[in-house]
Amino acid sequence: MTKEKKKKETLNPFEIAQRQLDVCAEIIDLEPNIHAMLRVPMREFHLSLSVRMDDGSAKIFRGFRVQYNDARGPTKGGIRFHPEETIDTVRALAAWMTWKCAVVDIPLGGAKGGVICNPKKMSQSEIERLSRAYIGGISQVIGPDKDIPAPDVYTNPQIMAWMMDEYAKIVGGNPFGVITGKPLSLGGSAGRGDATARGGWYTMREAAKQCNLKLENATVAIQGYGNAGYYAALLGKTLFGCKIVAVSDTKGGIINKTGLDPQAVYEHKVQTGSVVNFSGSESISNQEILELPVDILWPAALESVITEENAPGVKAKIVAEAANGPTTPEADEILYKNGVHVIPDFLCNAGGVTVSYFEMVQNMYMYYWDEDDVHRQLDKKMTAAYHSVLNCSRKYEINMRQAAYVVAVQRVAEAMRLRGWV
Ligand code: NAD
Repeated sequence: MTKEKKKKETLNPFEIAQRQLDVCAEIIDLEPNIHAMLRVPMREFHLSLSVRMDDGSAKIFRGFRVQYNDARGPTKGGIRFHPEETIDTVRALAAWMTWKCAVVDIPLGGAKGGVICNPKKMSQSEIERLSRAYIGGISQVIGPDKDIPAPDVYTNPQIMAWMMDEYAKIVGGNPFGVITGKPLSLGGSAGRGDATARGGWYTMREAAKQCNLKLENATVAIQGYGNAGYYAALLGKTLFGCKIVAVSDTKGGIINKTGLDPQAVYEHKVQTGSVVNFSGSESISNQEILELPVDILWPAALESVITEENAPGVKAKIVAEAANGPTTPEADEILYKNGVHVIPDFLCNAGGVTVSYFEMVQNMYMYYWDEDDVHRQLDKKMTAAYHSVLNCSRKYEINMRQAAYVVAVQRVAEAMRLRGWV
């Protein structure tokens, strides 16, 4: 790989999202006006949030909310609390939410939010005050029929409960449907906790059939051991009998070729703060985990981790992108050429927003489904979405990511035309 070529690979998620859209626009010969509108967010909000810290001082945090496109319905998307959050990451994630809601055919547009902060270094009461300040800053532009936030990296059901409560204080009443991913006792949905990984495994079940891969005892490596990664490990073992051989988090990775116990690894992480040093395992790096000789690889941490540098070393037969944007366009081409079946991010991880949508529906009806109903409805949505993408990839002879774009962008473009926007 030449130095000149290295320079060309952008790791900026929004530039990547725009390039992916440009490829799709060419495949479907998208009208220039629709293409131009879909390349940038419809609205974005930049916030300066003053938060009282425990020592009495005030600290200023930067926050963002990007509403990318609402042609198909109110926008929807999670909120990240992360020290390296940038507006371009939020823009990219908001774009991918637009395609995600469209590919699983739920009546929502895409949005995303974020605050630059390090929640690992903040107390619970500081996180609560920051969460309330953030909602105070965007309260006029969110709502059950406008824009509905949810959890993402380093935000959780407790944070969603504070945010919903703050919104309720501002507008009055109990508008539970303004936020999803809430605790079960506060209008949350059964089955939301593991929905992202479960939805991913439903698409994996279908992909395995296409790749003639037997899931029982198939070997699995997972980068990231938060909500998406932990449940990917747990469900891989319990639902399909896969062997989870390696997992990782920010502090590093672990491997045990005879298989790890996902629940025991989780408990070790809760006690020690990391999966590292789990008994009976050996250490590996976050880079090595991506190139292990396994059947299935789940990138389940952050974006741009599979690049043109390491893509040639990926040996998995199927890559299930639980994380958003883990693969650069250059890496995508390499994986495709090497015959790796990629279940692209906004298809693979759409289970989370799908159950969030079920949560909104239940909040509106004030009637709650049991877990089996949620799983059944989720399976239906994910299986249908996987097959519409697979059929599209065969029809146009394009890779699975391009096919997911074609399915999603055509649906959003149709709504824009019908609304008379272009
Ligand atoms: P989380 O905060 O629960 O967990 C993130 C995990 O990634 C943690 O284990 C952390 O240690 C690890 N991590 C962070 N940086 C890392 C690095 N550089 N190398 C290795 N590990 C690292 O977050 P989550 O909800 O599991 O989200 C993970 C990914 O899945 C993100 O890309 C998110 O956007 C995507 N996603 C999540 C959901 C959901 O419902 N949780 C839905 C769709 C997509």
